[in-house]
Amino acid sequence: MPEVDQIVAARLRPLGQRLTPRRRSLLEILRSARHPLTIHEILERGRGLAMSSVYRNLTVLEQAGLVHRVITREDFARYELAEELTEHHHHLICSGCGLVRDMPTDVRVERVMRSVMAGMPADVFTPQSHRIDVMGMCPDCVQRRERATQAKGGG
Ligand SMILES: [Zn+2]
Ligand SMILES: [Zn+2]
Repeated sequence: MPEVDQIVAARLRPLGQRLTPRRRSLLEILRSARHPLTIHEILERGRGLAMSSVYRNLTVLEQAGLVHRVITREDFARYELAEELTEHHHHLICSGCGLVRDMPTDVRVERVMRSVMAGMPADVFTPQSHRIDVMGMCPDCVQRRERATQAKGGG
C-alpha cells in the first residue's frame, strides 16, 4: 500500500522517525485485526516481536498519530490504527471482560454529531472529530451473568 506508506512516513518524519520493518509489521497486525488489540494479542500475532520493542514502537506510532490507544476499564490498553489509516468508526466496549469491537458508523448518528459540532459556538470549542464508545456487555458476559444468577436462584 504505497499511499499508506506515504502517510505513515509523513507522520513519522517530524518526529525524526522512519518506517522500520518492525513498525510496518505492527501497523500490518493492527490493520488485519479489524478490532483494537492488547499488547498480548499483538505479541501472539507477531511472531518474534519482543515486548519491549512493541511498547517502544507503539509509543512512537501513537505520538505520530498513526495509532490510537482505546481506553477500556482494563488495566491494559488496546491499540488500533488511527482513523486516517482506516475509516471512521465507533466502539462497543464490554464492561465485564474489556472486549472491544468496532461498530460501523450509522448515518443518523453521524448526521446528529455533525450538526451538534457545527452548531457549537467558537468561543466554547472548535470541534474537529468525535469518538463514541458504547459501554455494555458482550454475549459471553451476559451468559456468564445469567448462569451466575441461575446458580444462586437454584441453590
Ligand atoms: Zn465481555
Ligand atoms: Zn461517528
